Amino acid sequence: MFVKNVNGSGRFPAPKGYASWLDYWKAQTGINPTYCSTDNCWGRNLVGAHVQKAYSSDQRWYIVPLCASCNNRTDTFNVNATLVPVPSNL
Ligand SMILES: [Zn+2]
Repeated sequence: MFVKNVNGSGRFPAPKGYASWLDYWKAQTGINPTYCSTDNCWGRNLVGAHVQKAYSSDQRWYIVPLCASCNNRTDTFNVNATLVPVPSNL
């Protein structure tokens, strides 16, 4: 799945009851990720990054675990992980 980072999304607090967006992603998927979701990236300092699908009419925001470096990418890149939709009732 090709995605792009949503710029400036760090200002959105995690949903009530979750310590972080990464925590929210873990709760929704039941997965405890070890590495960054980007293809061929083994970064381990993970955050729950806000992304949008690239090349798609779907403009919704999703959470995916990325390393701090990939969270700052401005290009389009491929991830291999479940995209968890950001709840719309924030
Ligand atoms: Zn990475």
